[in-house]
Amino acid sequence: MNNKIYDYLIVGSGLFGSVFAHEAYLQGKKCLVIDKRDHAGGNVYCENVEGVNVHKYGAHIFHTNDKAIWDYVNSFVEFNRYTNSPIANYKGEMYSLPFNMNTFYQLWGVKTPAEAKEKIQSQIDQLNINNPDNLEQQALSLVGTDVYEKLIKGYTEKQWGRVATELPAFIIKRLPVRFTFDNNYFSDKYQGIPIGGYNKLTEGLLKGIEVRLNVDYFEDREGWSALADQVVYTGKIDQYYDFRFGQLEYRSLKFEHEVHDIENYQGNAVVNYTEREVPYTRIIEHKHFEFGTQPNTVTTKEYPVEGSLKNEPYYPINDEKNTAVFKLYKELADQEYDVIFGGRLAEYRYYDMHQIIGSAFKEVSRQFDKQAVKA
Ligand code: FAD
Ligand code: UDP
Repeated sequence: MNNKIYDYLIVGSGLFGSVFAHEAYLQGKKCLVIDKRDHAGGNVYCENVEGVNVHKYGAHIFHTNDKAIWDYVNSFVEFNRYTNSPIANYKGEMYSLPFNMNTFYQLWGVKTPAEAKEKIQSQIDQLNINNPDNLEQQALSLVGTDVYEKLIKGYTEKQWGRVATELPAFIIKRLPVRFTFDNNYFSDKYQGIPIGGYNKLTEGLLKGIEVRLNVDYFEDREGWSALADQVVYTGKIDQYYDFRFGQLEYRSLKFEHEVHDIENYQGNAVVNYTEREVPYTRIIEHKHFEFGTQPNTVTTKEYPVEGSLKNEPYYPINDEKNTAVFKLYKELADQEYDVIFGGRLAEYRYYDMHQIIGSAFKEVSRQFDKQAVKA
């Protein structure tokens, strides 16, 4: 006799857990979501401060090329037309990001794509890099020495706490290089911020579903797991296996939130500080995500720190060493019959929100198509 109360116990109410819970609920499944934090939503959670939606765990800009994912999120909350165009401050000099004709004009006074390409190529030619196999070589062979030295090296080394020659090249491939005057940080078709904040999205996803907060799965894992036929686990995969192959490394952040008694602090949602000597990587001014007109403003400085059991694990460090350790955990996870592993922490991937939703969709179709076939 099956005396389990729930079909699914979902550990973690971030986007992976919430999307999975919502879709399972629509299939008539009974779900319990638990989260160790005192709120749902994971890292996209916003806190209202002085009428401003503050992205409590760092700036979150939604972008995707996938119309189905865009329509899905917009079915819970309407997104605005916010377009991310960060500014870089390097020793007081201001540059447009991502690297584009505006940046090249600001750096060298070049006015045409041909002039910019020639300038970059002349720097690349002096370097003799054939097969770039780390972040430094990759960046240098894409944009040359000046952009690398002023806009990449300092930011990257403080963000990751490692020298750029020891970082994987893929991190920098996230940033576009354009020979047009286009300051849009993302190249995706769809982009925006939920009007009224991300909580509207996660609240919509979790509507009708039982959520218990301030609950750490590991305080009674057997007890929690016993409640459901299957567990959807979105926490750290190494912790699930009691760190038996060692800890996977993460980069973390300390956030310093400040309220200012002025209307507009920096004129842009995101300003990156790209020199090594400034201890934070960027200052976020949250009201600009939603074109806010409040009399005050709220900013957040992001200070990178090493991840640890105490510091929140934000960025997986997907270098060779950690990838090899992750593989060992993944082999164990693949053999589990009644546990599904998903999300940034369980998949140990530097996934953006749309990729997490895509990954949850895949899991949903694996689960429910499988059951449909069985039935
Ligand atoms: P999470 O949101 O981390 O949720 C996991 C949840 O599980 C958490 O709530 C946690 O408390 C809970 N949990 C963990 N262990 C336990 C346990 N033992 N018991 C109970 N609960 C547990 N993406 C973008 O698309 N655009 C951006 O601009 C962007 N900016 C980002 C900026 C920063 C600083 C960071 C860190 C990420 C950013 N991302 C961005 C990525 C985005 O946050 C993730 O893709 C997404 O939120 C991950 O969702 P998730 O459900 O996998 O994980
Ligand atoms: N980066 C950089 N200079 C910048 C912004 C980003 O060198 O001004 C590099 C840095 O290594 C960073 C990576 O590009 O980790 C990815 O940047 P992104 O803005 O996507 O980082 P996230 O928003 O995920 O923190």
